[in-house]
Amino acid sequence: MRQMPPAHPFDDDKLHEECGIFGVVGVTDAANFIALGLHALQHRGQEAGGIVTHSQETGFHSARRMGYVRDNFTSQDVMQTLPGDIGIGHVRYSTAGSKGQTAIRDVQPFFGEFSMGGAAIAHNGNITNADALRKELIERGSIFQSSSDSECIIHLMARSMGRNIPARMEDALRKLEGAFSVVAMTRTKLIGVRDPLGVRPLVLGQVGDGWVLASETCALDIIGAEFIREIEPGEMVVISANEGVQSNFPFRHQASRFCIFEHVYFSRPDSILGGRSVYETRRQIGVELAREAPVEADLVCPVPDSGTPAAIGYAHESGIPYGMGIIRNQYMGRTFIEPTEQIRNMGVRLKLNVNRALIKGKRVVLVDDSVVRGTTSRKIKEMILDAGAAEVHFRIASPPTAWPCFYGVDTPQREKLLAATMTEDEMRQHLGVDSLRFVTLDGLYRAVGEANGRDPKAPRYCDACFSGDYPVAPSDMIEKGFTLKPAAK
Ligand code: SF4
Repeated sequence: MRQMPPAHPFDDDKLHEECGIFGVVGVTDAANFIALGLHALQHRGQEAGGIVTHSQETGFHSARRMGYVRDNFTSQDVMQTLPGDIGIGHVRYSTAGSKGQTAIRDVQPFFGEFSMGGAAIAHNGNITNADALRKELIERGSIFQSSSDSECIIHLMARSMGRNIPARMEDALRKLEGAFSVVAMTRTKLIGVRDPLGVRPLVLGQVGDGWVLASETCALDIIGAEFIREIEPGEMVVISANEGVQSNFPFRHQASRFCIFEHVYFSRPDSILGGRSVYETRRQIGVELAREAPVEADLVCPVPDSGTPAAIGYAHESGIPYGMGIIRNQYMGRTFIEPTEQIRNMGVRLKLNVNRALIKGKRVVLVDDSVVRGTTSRKIKEMILDAGAAEVHFRIASPPTAWPCFYGVDTPQREKLLAATMTEDEMRQHLGVDSLRFVTLDGLYRAVGEANGRDPKAPRYCDACFSGDYPVAPSDMIEKGFTLKPAAK
């Protein structure tokens, strides 16, 4: 089989969300809804996708493919193999331990046959004690089919004595540490669960007489579903066409710690998170950034597309004109060409081009969402200077990313993160820009609605990649030698 190129051949200087999940019950031809929902969630994972459905006449059906949803789940040849009125789906970047090497056996949803019937499960997040669980399960006789930590859930369910599948799932999930938003299905029930901290998102919607679960509200919009509410942190919902939504809270209650980076970058700007428009939050980050880090300049430009709302906010607050100084080639995708070394060296120019007429002679504020390795930022700065800019000032709509994420986001090792090894001024010198400023953690918290900024004793969000304050100790990684930041005295 042809090896797929990496999902982001020219975009490896970003953090990447690893999965999007979707499920539906009580609709005719569920697979069509799922394909559309996964298409709307494609930004959360591009390497592979899968759909499982169930039909009362013909049982469970499954299709798992490498590549984009639009290339795999549009033809009648595939879609007619997925009949039924209930189903779940998953898009994947790649999960911990298998980055860049996705094999079809690692593509979710996973399926298990139990004495009370079959169940399929799809997971967004990362289980931070998966290595320990896997070792224990293998020692007790489980035979794993994949390298995915999510498969642990199926094996834990198989060992549970619960009387039905939701009860077994509760048992299994109680043994997990880390971040998990899950959609699962039996022959008649759709199940949705968020971990006790609610690190990753999951929302509930209604379409006609049917019900939908999805990572983000943009996946409800595409099928015309009405947004009902977010699944609460620590909540499990069991949904059937006849009985509607039943909710319970099987885990010990904890204060929630939703991923703040969902607001900064991962979620689509047209989604609603925690009752807030993602677009509006990003625009507000730009406002905070303009207040915290003003500069004399002639033009505010976003690094498209993810820097755009923050740049609009920065321009509005600072009074500096906004302009599209960098134009993105919307059609640059993996289907374009295999990333040979020669093509790689062209790097960011394949994806972004400078609007010379606008840039020439100007003092430019460039607004981006984050700096990870800094490789792309350097190239963009060179392009802007080549185009005749008088000065380049970077303004970053997130605090310095100095720590890896262990909760379902693809992050380089800590040593590869620019902010882990350099001060802000060293980063400025390294990038070769006239100034470099990041929004502060307090500024970011204000932008997401916390008027007093971050409460260091009880932060409302997971912000570990900025603060090093991990809400769940990443036990597998600690076992492998990862050192946590010393606790503040
Ligand atoms: S470490 Fe960062 S990216 Fe990961 S869940 Fe926390 S805030 Fe989100």
